[in-house]
Amino acid sequence: MPRDKIGVLMAELFIGGEWMSALAGGTREIRCPADGSLVATVDEADGDDTEAAIDAARRAFDNGPWPGTPAAERGDLLLRAADLITRDKDAYARAESLDTGKRLVESEYDMADVVACLRYFGKLAANEPGRIVDAGNPNVSSRIVYEPVGVCGLITPWNYPLLQAIWKVAPALAAGNTFVLKPSELTPSTAIMLMRTLQEAGLPDGVANLVLGAGAQAGAPLAGHPDVDLVSFTGGLATGTRIAAAAAATVKKVALELGGKNPNIVFADADFETAVDYAITAVFLHSGQVCSAGARLIVQNELHDEFVDEVVRRTERIRLGGPFDPDAETGPLISAAHLEKIEHYVAAAMTEGATLRTGGWRPQDERLKDGFYYLPTVLTDVKQGTYAVREEAFGPVLTVERFTDEDDAVRIANDTHYGLAGGVFTKDGDKAQRVAARLRHGTIWINDYHPYLPQAEWGGFKRSGVGRELGRAGLAEYQEAKHIYQNLKPGPQYWFSRPD
Ligand code: NAD
Repeated sequence: MPRDKIGVLMAELFIGGEWMSALAGGTREIRCPADGSLVATVDEADGDDTEAAIDAARRAFDNGPWPGTPAAERGDLLLRAADLITRDKDAYARAESLDTGKRLVESEYDMADVVACLRYFGKLAANEPGRIVDAGNPNVSSRIVYEPVGVCGLITPWNYPLLQAIWKVAPALAAGNTFVLKPSELTPSTAIMLMRTLQEAGLPDGVANLVLGAGAQAGAPLAGHPDVDLVSFTGGLATGTRIAAAAAATVKKVALELGGKNPNIVFADADFETAVDYAITAVFLHSGQVCSAGARLIVQNELHDEFVDEVVRRTERIRLGGPFDPDAETGPLISAAHLEKIEHYVAAAMTEGATLRTGGWRPQDERLKDGFYYLPTVLTDVKQGTYAVREEAFGPVLTVERFTDEDDAVRIANDTHYGLAGGVFTKDGDKAQRVAARLRHGTIWINDYHPYLPQAEWGGFKRSGVGRELGRAGLAEYQEAKHIYQNLKPGPQYWFSRPD
């Protein structure tokens, strides 16, 4: 059983409805990135544990009641889980903040989004009745039925731990699948809590399984194992490429939600105050550790200098702090390794000729000395085609480019192998729609940035992803469509030789 000791979560793996120790006996300490305090000690799975979890999910799919449970009842279970998370929302939000270091208020928003997602798919589950296909022949019954894919391997990152998990878990369960969830090794706490919640909601044993641990050991079998039918992954491009290659050997269904290098285009006719405000939120929310972060600001020439001066001025006033500092506007990075990665990114950008307008350092504030903090940073004079505007930093770093006209803005914004999201700021509605239509990115916000709707699809163009999450597409990703054709008046056709 998971044990909670003096506020520190301790947990094992959740396999076949039981909490059990990792076979090799390894454990991992989870520490808060804001101050290094101990949050949890959890068991660390290796490949054998994950195979045991896959086996449990396989048995629950092949022999258990869940895939055949009426869709409305599956939906009811998701609605019950939503109610239970609402009941426990404070504990969930606190755990999320301790693991990630993000401000409590952001975790509270995330938990509200988690509940909305569960409710959305809880209601959608019952509304997937299949359809009749008119065969044009009264002696034929022909229909499409939707069935679960089977065992799903769900692999998630550390930036929005429970939200990323629920975007996969909710549609997978609504469609009648079983799953093995492998959250990021850095942020397992809310996934552990989710298993308890699903159990309390009445999910049959073996439908939900949880393995904790490093990607290469605990995660890898989910991409390669023949008993896994679908792998859904959210994380970095390099890992996603490896997962797609491993999944190809057994022709699994693959959904990939990968990185982004997201343009935020500001035209000279934009509302100045609104565009400045959103430009800052777009990139510095959660210290830039957001896949859709507007990390690439692209400003029209005539506005550029005045706009950038104001962005820099406001960036310098951003207050950093831990999850429970009520005055903090953003928090730490997830780990020491990630902090070093951001430092290398900024150093590389400056080698390419970028000008550092603000930030570029770890803060010197004594208050922050035990956390992985990095000052919000603005780099100007970055050139198209360079590392700085093509590669994802996934941290609090804004690069600024300039453009002449509409065509130039679109050309610059599309000059990336990613295609996840982007923003357009202008008072000219027609221009905004024209530009949005030409951007090769999966979500475009006009005069806004970052709003999330569970009923809308989410996914990337180009190397930002394969498949789509949420909305109607979210359930389709977790279903097989089966065509059932029945001859209602069977009899011989005699296309070949007749009997004598
Ligand atoms: P990551 O790729 O390092 O890890 C993601 C998950 O994959 C973790 O659980 C990790 O343990 C696991 N993993 C690593 N190697 C594996 C392997 N060989 N086999 C199986 N699993 C493996 O990514 P991260 O650092 O956790 O997250 C940051 C990245 O995620 C960024 O690139 C960000 O843009 C992306 N992201 C994308 C979206 C989206 O919706 N498109 C959302 C959030 C984050």
